[in-house]
Amino acid sequence: MDNKNIQPESLMMSYGYKPELSEGAVKLPIFQTSTFVFKTAEEGKAFFELAYGIREKEQGEELGLIYSRINNPNLEVLENRLALWDKADDCAFFESGMSAISTVLLEFLNPGDIVLYSKPCYGGTDHFINHILPKYGILGIGYTSKDSQEEIIKLLEASGKADKLAVIYAETPANPSNDIIDLGMCKDIANTYSTADKKVMMVVDNTYMGPVWSSPMEHGADLIVYSATKYIGGHSDLIAGAVVGNAEVMQRVKVLRTFLGNMASPNTCWLLLRSLETLKIRMEQQMRNAVKVADFLNTHNKIEKVYYLGLLEKGTSQYELYQKQYTSPGAMISFDIKGGEKQAFQFLNALKLFKLAVSLGSTEGLAQHPASMTHIGIDEETRNAIGVTDKLVRLSIGVENEVDIINDIQQALSAVSPN
Ligand SMILES: *Cc1c(COP(=O)(O)O)cnc(C)c1O
Repeated sequence: MDNKNIQPESLMMSYGYKPELSEGAVKLPIFQTSTFVFKTAEEGKAFFELAYGIREKEQGEELGLIYSRINNPNLEVLENRLALWDKADDCAFFESGMSAISTVLLEFLNPGDIVLYSKPCYGGTDHFINHILPKYGILGIGYTSKDSQEEIIKLLEASGKADKLAVIYAETPANPSNDIIDLGMCKDIANTYSTADKKVMMVVDNTYMGPVWSSPMEHGADLIVYSATKYIGGHSDLIAGAVVGNAEVMQRVKVLRTFLGNMASPNTCWLLLRSLETLKIRMEQQMRNAVKVADFLNTHNKIEKVYYLGLLEKGTSQYELYQKQYTSPGAMISFDIKGGEKQAFQFLNALKLFKLAVSLGSTEGLAQHPASMTHIGIDEETRNAIGVTDKLVRLSIGVENEVDIINDIQQALSAVSPN
């Protein structure tokens, strides 16, 4: 059987691992080692020449194991497996989603450059773009899912240095609003500002829907970034990040990672290998539960509005984009409760099965209040403009039984007072 004809979920248990190299162990052991013994000095020299780009790989040659900041069997097998989902050449794992995102931005932006980024985006990403990158003379310009291509170009041109656009960054669906960004439009903008000697890179944060329900590279993305802390890890027991892309760009990402030293540890990689085996069945169960929860919330009299891809109205432009870019409505739901912070807090405090915690994508249900928690760093005016108001609650749906999940939400809503 050719691996190309096998679905990724069938390859997650064994792909890239040779039991005969590990005493026949059916699972990859944890290679808790800092360094690797070379057979000969000549071999060590040959490995280093490749690692430092001093010579090209020979036909079929793979980089040998050197030192766990550069490579490690747990890291390599994990990277080969995640890359399968996005049909990409390569992948790099990091010690957090933020280290994956910051490494990509630092590698593809130079002083004086511009990064166009979607708003709202993850608070840490927003902070890195607006408070760290300016120290290197890099300007971030935000756009929203409501802005047309012409409006985004107008924002860019207003900077007076549109030719310095180097990265267009999209987090879609946006956290916590579930707004969808048009990736085809992002690609058009990237192409418009690319020149013979400078390609504008398109980077997509695929944490919410990837890698199972969305493949941004099919829509022109050069690089995909993930917080692997979320669905990929999926058990609220680790922090990790990943970058996926084709060989040329991934080579650059991996070289910077080697010198920042922010790769994932063997132990974290081993946990992630365990997680990948159940990635698809977890996400599918979470989605099936989310569909039921969204329907329930949508008819409840203490709820004003539910934000869920499965409830988008046919015929709207967001619905068209949803059909084009995703194969599932996902398992993240936000809603406006009738009232404000008081009612939102009453609801959150009354939940029993759901845990009141930030993060998402885990086996257990998680609930939080974006305006006072994950998005508190954004000024109030911007927050209100992007729908992160005091009445918004975000739910990450878990794998529990749907009846128990809905009962928990129902009893928590009954603890909410009228405004
Ligand atoms: C959590 C998250 C991040 C940051 O990832 P960490 O693993 O917490 O560093 C980035 N993007 C999105 C969409 C996230 O949800």
